[in-house]
Amino acid sequence: MPNEGIGGWPARRALMSPNSTALLFEDESTTYAELSARISSLAAHLVAAGLSKGDRVAYLGPNHPAFVETLFATVSAGGIFVPLNFRLTAPEITQILGDCEPTVLVYAPECAAVVQMLEATPQQVVALSNPGPGEQLYGDWPAAAAAVEVAVAADDVALILYTSGTTGRPKGAMLTHANLTWNTVNLLIGVDVGADEVTLISAPLFHIAALAQTLLPTLIKGGCALITPGWDVDGVYELIAKHRVTWMFGVTTMYAGLAAVPQWESADLTSLRSLMCGGAAVPEELVRTYQRRGLTFCQGYGMTETAPGVTFLEARESAAKVGSAGVPVFFADVRLDRPGAGPGEVLVRGPNVTPGYWRDSGATEAAFTEDGWFRTGDLAAIDPDGHFRIVGRQKDMYISGGENVYPAEVENVMFGHPAVAEVAVVGMPDDKWGEAGRAFVVPAVPVTEAELREFLLGRLAKYKVPSRFEFVDRLPRTASGKVRKGDLRAVRPHLP
Ligand code: ATP
Ligand code: MG
Repeated sequence: MPNEGIGGWPARRALMSPNSTALLFEDESTTYAELSARISSLAAHLVAAGLSKGDRVAYLGPNHPAFVETLFATVSAGGIFVPLNFRLTAPEITQILGDCEPTVLVYAPECAAVVQMLEATPQQVVALSNPGPGEQLYGDWPAAAAAVEVAVAADDVALILYTSGTTGRPKGAMLTHANLTWNTVNLLIGVDVGADEVTLISAPLFHIAALAQTLLPTLIKGGCALITPGWDVDGVYELIAKHRVTWMFGVTTMYAGLAAVPQWESADLTSLRSLMCGGAAVPEELVRTYQRRGLTFCQGYGMTETAPGVTFLEARESAAKVGSAGVPVFFADVRLDRPGAGPGEVLVRGPNVTPGYWRDSGATEAAFTEDGWFRTGDLAAIDPDGHFRIVGRQKDMYISGGENVYPAEVENVMFGHPAVAEVAVVGMPDDKWGEAGRAFVVPAVPVTEAELREFLLGRLAKYKVPSRFEFVDRLPRTASGKVRKGDLRAVRPHLP
């Protein structure tokens, strides 16, 4: 049987460009030939250690070449890779490990303390050492056994990714080799990734966006993935200049942060061709700020369950179509659950859509319509030219005085006020209006409730303007940076 898995990608690429740099991390550079050799040796180790087809290997740690090696080694050995969010607490990790029951848990030195606190651990727990250049990551494991060959089919599960948990308990979305391959094809149709690409990946690789929208497309094209363990603004400027970064991935808060420091004016950004932004629409201000430096965003809408691309807005359109999430990716059908002008739920069908949630047939059944469309839980409107506008999550919409209010719309307008650094709007029960908006604001500079209200009244219908404003130091967020609105709804209102 031909091997249809993604596990062989680095090896196939090594045949074409063995000496090109595949990974850069701090002072360590790994060629495709080296990466491929390490993956095959680690895959042999995993099989020798008892990994069978379909067994899970969990990985806990910040971005590091070991993440990439363990991912490809696991799936080429026929296993399922489960990257864990290293910012979770021990009870949260214990719950996920109990759900996916991995055979092996690999963890980075940074995570040793949390691993100590786990209630139950898998059969094998492998501590990564902190190797110097050329040293073995998997310090204690015996020398490599003979290479393994495991047949992998396109529909075999490659990854279980636990969703952000923005709206509840994280669910283990299964993604097959085919899901990831088709998403890569869809991405490459929208972005001209080249063999000379130097892609900066600072966002966490355990999240689908960094993994599937940047790492996989870069590696399939033979480009270089420049991986950092985290995001720090000064470091990013240095890396862009030193390695002549051509493409990078971030979320809006990262890009806003980059433009807010003094280096912004003087830094040499000429190597960058385009920027990739995920998770939320890029605010107009940010698009304009980057446009002044000749930089455009490619952006899209997607989620863990769709591996992740659903719609995509090409960089050349980003200025003309501000606020749009683009058009459906090439190989996926996307529609709204009800025809007409108003917003409807986004439904997706295509080769990138998950077969379901790990050991949760109830959640899987609830996620699909009778004729097999995946229900995203997000509301969107479609412009006359076919562009999607995401108006928010179904769960976040509220009804005030009989009118639908989409918090994302209100938040976008509020972002336009210079004193608003961060904002989240939720609907709360209200005696007069049924529900009314409550805005949680992290101010950039001191500002009053009256000023904000007046700003909004000039730009939004009255029923959309929040009835209360709360000033806070920070917003509760998930590890991928999304606001936990459920936590905000539970905040007891302060009485005026
Ligand atoms: P959970 O499903 O556990 O509640 P989550 O949905 O936040 O968590 P992800 O799969 O990481 O987990 O996020 C996908 C969601 O992010 C989408 O369903 C959508 O609500 C939001 N999103 C993604 N891209 C955009 C975008 N361009 N504009 C607006 N919202 C977006
Ligand atoms: Mg979701």
